[in-house]
Amino acid sequence: MSTEFARTWQHAVVTGGAGFVGSHLCTALLDAGTEVTCVDDFSTGRRANVAALLDRPGFRLLQADVAEPFAVDRPPDLVLHFASPASPADYLRLPMHTLETGSLGTRHALELAHHAGARFVLASTSEVYGDPQQHPQSERYWGNVNPVGPRSVYDEAKRFAEALVTAQAGTYGTDVGIVRLFNTYGPRMRGHDGRAVPTFIRQALAGEPLTVTGDGRQTRSLCYVDDTVRGVLAAAAHGMRGPVNIGNPDEITMLDLARLVITLTGSDADVRYIERPVDDPAVRCPDITLARDKLQWEPRVAAADGLRRTIDWFRAHSADPAPSPGAPTAAHRR
Ligand code: NAD
Repeated sequence: MSTEFARTWQHAVVTGGAGFVGSHLCTALLDAGTEVTCVDDFSTGRRANVAALLDRPGFRLLQADVAEPFAVDRPPDLVLHFASPASPADYLRLPMHTLETGSLGTRHALELAHHAGARFVLASTSEVYGDPQQHPQSERYWGNVNPVGPRSVYDEAKRFAEALVTAQAGTYGTDVGIVRLFNTYGPRMRGHDGRAVPTFIRQALAGEPLTVTGDGRQTRSLCYVDDTVRGVLAAAAHGMRGPVNIGNPDEITMLDLARLVITLTGSDADVRYIERPVDDPAVRCPDITLARDKLQWEPRVAAADGLRRTIDWFRAHSADPAPSPGAPTAAHRR
């Protein structure tokens, strides 16, 4: 077990545990000897992500929409609130669900933690910085978000969730933490979820042109999922309120990322330029001084290495059905 996970938990509830990041968190916690209840409505996650965990002792799967009240069968000492559509394709398809998950879902997850006396950690996002006017972004920056733009359903849901978590701690004394995750990538991303890494890999492996938006000079900072999981568990164990940025400061332009994926896949695919989405941030890079100082955390996996592992996974799972959102819930139909 890594020293960053030094504090051991008896029972963790992971909302959104059947999603990309959540399923890696469930695995890491089980590996560390923690019992895990994964709560997920499969709106953007997949049963396949946790299929290998179903037979492991201490793992439970509860299908539930956290925007509705929910209960688990025994009190947790840690709640990791990761439920939320995260890719633009998903949250634009599920705008009301995204807002309700960030607001009502966060409220319900906080109540669960409060009544159990558990520590609570919110998965927030670099999107709270919007299209940033400070670069790189430190936790002290308040952001530049368009509250009525198409991305606002996600950005504002997370900003509201941060406010709710902060108010909960001030009002009821709940032990809370906020991690602001920057772009994370790795195995179990969906090839059609619209995010750059899975899109480029899927296209390169199929020999299709890689669709770069705009002129491709916009940047992102990509963190391999194992590093993100270590950072989240370090913040949980530390007990800090945060917010704390968890991301990789190794910034790359989208065009360079496309070229790197082409090289690493050995593809002869080309690049095709397409229209850039509205309010797409021009730059994105975390200042991780706080995580380095307080958590002794920093990313370890270089982009080429992480991308190679992700490409290997995509090669091995090429037969997976593409977009497989779960059955719509009442919230989706609204
Ligand atoms: P994902 O879509 O793969 O996972 C989200 C999971 O939440 C899915 O399994 C989905 O079914 C579940 N979910 C959504 N709404 C729910 C609800 N109302 N009730 C129960 N389950 C629900 O996305 P991800 O990339 O794994 O992101 C996980 C979390 O991390 C999200 O909160 C996201 O905002 C945050 N985050 C991710 C990134 C990233 O780059 N992956 C960056 C910043 C923040």
